[in-house]
Amino acid sequence: MCERFIYESPIFSKNKMFIGIDDTDSEKGMCTTYIAALLYEKLGTTGYPRLIRLNPNIPYKTRGNGAIALNAKGNPKKIKESVLETVKKYAHLQNKKTNPGVVFMEDLNQKNKKILNDFYQKTVSEIVTIEEAEEIAKSVKAEIHKFNNGRGVIGALAAMGARLSDKTYELIAYRTRKDYGKQKKIDRNSVFEMNEKTYPETFDNIDPDTGQILITPHGYDPVFCGIRGNSVEIVKKAWRILKPLEKIERIQIFETNQGTDAHLRKKKISGLEPYDCAILVGKVISNPKSIEGGHVIFRLSDKSGEVDCAAYEPTGEFRDIIRKLRVGDHIEVYGGIGKYPTTLNLEKIQILKLERAYERIPPECCGRRMTSAGKGKGFKCKRCGKKLGEDAAVVKEIPRDLEFGFYEVPPRARRHLSMPLIRTKK
Ligand code: ATP
Repeated sequence: MCERFIYESPIFSKNKMFIGIDDTDSEKGMCTTYIAALLYEKLGTTGYPRLIRLNPNIPYKTRGNGAIALNAKGNPKKIKESVLETVKKYAHLQNKKTNPGVVFMEDLNQKNKKILNDFYQKTVSEIVTIEEAEEIAKSVKAEIHKFNNGRGVIGALAAMGARLSDKTYELIAYRTRKDYGKQKKIDRNSVFEMNEKTYPETFDNIDPDTGQILITPHGYDPVFCGIRGNSVEIVKKAWRILKPLEKIERIQIFETNQGTDAHLRKKKISGLEPYDCAILVGKVISNPKSIEGGHVIFRLSDKSGEVDCAAYEPTGEFRDIIRKLRVGDHIEVYGGIGKYPTTLNLEKIQILKLERAYERIPPECCGRRMTSAGKGKGFKCKRCGKKLGEDAAVVKEIPRDLEFGFYEVPPRARRHLSMPLIRTKK
């Protein structure tokens, strides 16, 4: 079941092993972070393991497109055996959509670091193939292990290569096996207390509009809750405030690229490819319209082309902002392209310039407004009977009920990688 390629590493002197793992879970359970937490305990791990989110638009993901990287010190052979054994034991290999990949490197020089970071930069923002990942592995002399179709090598290599110019932390608490799939039990008040005492240094704990608790995701996997924050200290503090009402098997802190906008690249509309993550600047060329399902769509143009932009139903009140856009407004949009036909799924927008809006109203006569004499037939005064043509209409500016600046989707609809505006301000 496991395909194995070995590109011998030239130097084993540092005795440090870099490990990347991805794609071990299925919709029925497991989570690659759990495997990392087990390995963290088993191996002589140095530093925090990393939870690296990759392109959120790709179709192969189970949930949040997360991959794992960690370092270990010790006997390379033993470390590899331990990692592979753990992956084989816990990965949902019987599921055809689960395609684990494991990558080992014993030497990470500057040149290879750059190659891997470039690969990460592409994987977090665009779509790549298994073949591309294999080529990269060969060029940096990484040892890769593929299970089923082995697509996980993409995420495993990217996670290993990620150089994070901005980073956040997530403390994940795992439940005991007997509770997998059951409703998560937590003292609701303790979540609100934690949020009050640690926000905005922790973020996306709750959704302020719906009161929804966001730290305890649904699913059959081992995760009980995850607290995201700007430092190790703050996520630890937040955890101490929480009151879980079920047994917790273990906790693990990860260094992550979550909440950093690492996936977004400034692009031209003509250069957009399916699954790209992009920041576009352009002009609104069609007024927003609501379509079936509650989604709101408008069309944007820059000098290179045009694209539809969508605020989907789960983005809730963010759609009210989008509905206020008008033809001619200059905006910057942040988001991801789904499958063809190309539509940008909005994560946030910045209003750069608002087009002035006008309405034509009837002129006054005998101290009051004239009334319409019929469509295109001008105006008449009800008091004196005077008639005027359409061109007598008074053009009046309508105040735009929209301010310059940024608007974002609510926390409950936020992508793992999207930077909350509260972090931008920081
Ligand atoms: P979890 O976060 O719970 O581990 P997941 O949502 O991360 O689940 P995976 O099961 O890891 O989903 O599946 C994602 C798959 O897509 C992996 O095989 C990964 O290697 C691959 N992948 C990640 N990024 C890209 C990309 N940019 N292009 C192509 N494939 C990718």
